[in-house]
This record gives sequence, structure tokens and C-alpha cells, in this order.
Amino acid sequence: MILEIFPSGPLETNAYLLACSQTKKAVIIDTPSESTDLILQKASKLSVSIEKILLTHSHWDHIADVALLKEKLNVPVYVHEEDAGNLEHPGSDKIPLFFPIAGVKPDGFLVEGQELHVGHLKIQVIHTPGHTLGGVCFYLAKEKVLISGDTLFRGTIGSLSLPTARPASMWPSLKKLAALPAETKVYPGHGGPTSIGAEQWIAHAQEQFD
Ligand SMILES: [Zn+2]
Ligand SMILES: [Zn+2]
Repeated sequence: MILEIFPSGPLETNAYLLACSQTKKAVIIDTPSESTDLILQKASKLSVSIEKILLTHSHWDHIADVALLKEKLNVPVYVHEEDAGNLEHPGSDKIPLFFPIAGVKPDGFLVEGQELHVGHLKIQVIHTPGHTLGGVCFYLAKEKVLISGDTLFRGTIGSLSLPTARPASMWPSLKKLAALPAETKVYPGHGGPTSIGAEQWIAHAQEQFD
């Protein structure tokens, strides 16, 4: 597995390039502003071919470059149906944009339990509503890797005070993540990596945040 991280844009949102080392097939996960050139240069250096764009959720800082990347790569874009509205019409989620963002129509929807294949890699979709209704995490069981979007960060969780947030949905989502193997490495939407073992407190996050 190849995993490259590109913190980009005004909120240092992490874009990820995830590739199968054997087949060199790759996906982009999240598309913050100013990430396009960084991702494409790295993909070319690694000789990987990008097959699709996956989105953990549709907050503007995660989709700002999606239209540009889709146009340059001509690949399908996937998001959970509950987050599709803001992908098509950025700003419609009532979160003010820092600058104008072009929307795209998703080519397909991500659903709980779905398994995506990228070369020999198997990526499982875990629906984790809370920060947004359509938030998802991407789990690679064999590689013990979780890409957690804004559901889980190192030492904290995604904001529950935004108009898109549903705090009551967050607690069961975090319990799902807490049940993954402790050694699972977690790559969040902002900031550096952590592990499920280091974040076991999330099983009881409701007591802390509610
Ligand atoms: Zn977010
Ligand atoms: Zn974010």
C-alpha cells in the first residue's frame, strides 16, 4: 500500500493518495483547495494511475478542488447520498464558503458496508454520521488503516456545532470506530495520524461532549 498525505488549503485539510503498490492503481480521498498540483505531481512521480475520487464528506474544505481534479483526471466521484447536495451546490449546507467553489454531480453513492477495490486493496465504507449526515470513514482491514475524515482526529472529534451536525448520531458512529482493532492506524481529515488504541476514549465520547 502507498499512502501519501497532502495538507492543503486554508484549514490544512488532508488530501490522501492511496494506491496499491503492486498494480499502481490509486484513489484520491478528499480534495481540498490547492491540493490538485501536489497530488498530480506525486501520482506522476510514483507512476500510479488514479481511478476515482472518494469523499469522506462534502464540507467545502474537503471538496474545493473536486471539480478541477475530476476535469483533469476524468474519473468518477463518490460521496454518501446524504452529503451529495453540498457537493453539487457548494454552500447549500449553510456553511459559509471562504471563496467560490465549483460543484460536481456525484457519479455514485457510498453506502455502509460497501467494499471498493483499488488494485489488490479492499476499502470498506463505514458510514459515520454525526459531523455531517453523510460522513464516512474508509477502512482497510488487511493494512489496518482507517481514513477518518472529520469524524475522528488525534485527541478529539469533528465539530458538532455546525449546521450539518447531528450529535445524537455521532456517539454510535464513534462506538463503531472504537470497535476496530486497537492497532488500526487512523489518518484524519486534519492533523497527523493516531490509532484506534490511542483513542479508546471515543467509546464514551458522549459523556465528554454532550
Ligand atoms: Zn468537516
Ligand atoms: Zn474538514
